[in-house]
Amino acid sequence: MKLLGGLWVICAVATTGCFSLDRDAFTFTQYKLEVRIEPEQQRLAVRGTVTLRNDSAGAQKNAVLQISSGLTWRSIQADGKGLQFVSQPYVSDIDHTGQLSEAIVALPREIPPGGSVELDIGYEGVIPLDATRLTRIGVPKSTAVHSDWDQIGKPFSAVRGVGYVAWYPVAMEAGNLSEGRSLFEVLGRWKEREQKALVKIRLSLVTDNSEGPRTLLCGNEGDHRYEPGSGGQDVSADCEFAPLGLRVPTFVLANYEILDQSAAQIAYRPEHKANAEKFAQAAEAVTPFVAEWFGAPPGKAQVGELFDPGASPYESGALLLTPLNDTDPKLLQIAMVHELTHAAFSSPRPWIHEGLAHFLQGAYREHQESRQAALDFMGLHRTAIVEAEKAVTSERKEETTKEESLISATIDEFYRSKAAYVWWMLRDLLGPETLRAVLRTYKPDQDTEAAYLQRLFQAQSKRDLQWFFDDWVYHDRGLPDFLVESAFARQASQGNYLVTVTIQNLGAAGAEVPVTVHFEGGETNQRVEVRGKAKGIVRIATPRPPTEIVVNDGSVPESDLGNNVFHASAPVK
Ligand SMILES: [Zn+2]
Repeated sequence: MKLLGGLWVICAVATTGCFSLDRDAFTFTQYKLEVRIEPEQQRLAVRGTVTLRNDSAGAQKNAVLQISSGLTWRSIQADGKGLQFVSQPYVSDIDHTGQLSEAIVALPREIPPGGSVELDIGYEGVIPLDATRLTRIGVPKSTAVHSDWDQIGKPFSAVRGVGYVAWYPVAMEAGNLSEGRSLFEVLGRWKEREQKALVKIRLSLVTDNSEGPRTLLCGNEGDHRYEPGSGGQDVSADCEFAPLGLRVPTFVLANYEILDQSAAQIAYRPEHKANAEKFAQAAEAVTPFVAEWFGAPPGKAQVGELFDPGASPYESGALLLTPLNDTDPKLLQIAMVHELTHAAFSSPRPWIHEGLAHFLQGAYREHQESRQAALDFMGLHRTAIVEAEKAVTSERKEETTKEESLISATIDEFYRSKAAYVWWMLRDLLGPETLRAVLRTYKPDQDTEAAYLQRLFQAQSKRDLQWFFDDWVYHDRGLPDFLVESAFARQASQGNYLVTVTIQNLGAAGAEVPVTVHFEGGETNQRVEVRGKAKGIVRIATPRPPTEIVVNDGSVPESDLGNNVFHASAPVK
């Protein structure tokens, strides 16, 4: 009966009969919000305007506005006149409470496709710690709150936007954590269509308590990130995203000290000053390395301390929210490489934006220690990629869900981990200089066609990369699975040996993969291109008879690493 009840409510606000509700009809093109935060009451009160553009094929008489279930709609107006709306709970995991307060608004006029409407809105309520969406699928509460740590409170508030807390209005179909990729797909679609939105949010603190929090942070560009107030009453911050890009509007409010250095700005609690200094030192240490790739970063990395030492770190743009634990300086450097990459380079495509930042962490690990150390570091994600590929393949067999190609990927394992490997493979294939040259010519605003990046690579390398982009970027062809089919050694002139190795790829994605021949006292390697479901042959000269042949040093993500070693037999004389 729940469904019928919902339909009745929807029909009741329609002026002419019943209609089907299209939650994806409108793109929110502009937000102008005044947000007042009352930490003592865990409250938030918002007034402002949102502009909605009808991007559906049909005219729309109604609009949907969704906010977190702890918040209540107070007013929705257009042209100074109150609009009729019905507020109903809507179950969706895009919010930590697992539910939204959804307003279904009767618009003052029908909005044609391409047309826009500006709504004056008001809502308020509480944002307490709440991990319902996780606990109801069986995650223990003690674990869940380390991941869903958002709340307004005293002495600390931290609230992330869409995907965590709908503290500004959105509209989309429900995403469900218990249904495969559903949540990530709806959030991915929302973020993609909101990239050009202009967001202007004025945050201010309302408190009588002069001991209260005094610093407001939001992942914002420019210098206006925090305003420590004198008496604790006039703290405010302008958070402007023009355009929003891939960032998620997020705010943090606490009694922070600020460590402001040339590469990074760290907001920390006084008792963690030493750890904050370590973060700052790590940022300074990696700045030259990041600059080699992208030039001097135009902005700084932002770090804000999360009070829960077990909280999962979170990033939006160049803002990193993380506990400031006493972490190994080498690990901190790797973390700061990621944030400084974001500060220096951006792309509207998640696999480029995030994948590149993760790739550069691997490259920095190589710079710190060795190629093997870097491959071990990246290898920590290999199993997750293999599992994600399996899950995606089985989901696609069951339903008609769309392909999880890298270029439109919405799940982390793809646009972060798999993408990092794709960048690593491109570097191995074309050399670091080509990669740097491509990144220097890359213009985010020109990346509007799928083939843009491929064209840049081809222009720099003079190589045809269609097969590579087809197998790894435009389509999801799974992962390669290499095996050494055969290896024959014969004695060549001057006591050298020539080993002919045939590599078979059982997977559908091709790659250029290193083949290593081991012999007594050493090893030598060579790269061979092996397309999907095909074979490649490579001839490698060695000074002694081969003992073992190994395909793939770990630089190509592979579904099965168990069949990569071949024990050589005695050479033919
Ligand atoms: Zn990132």
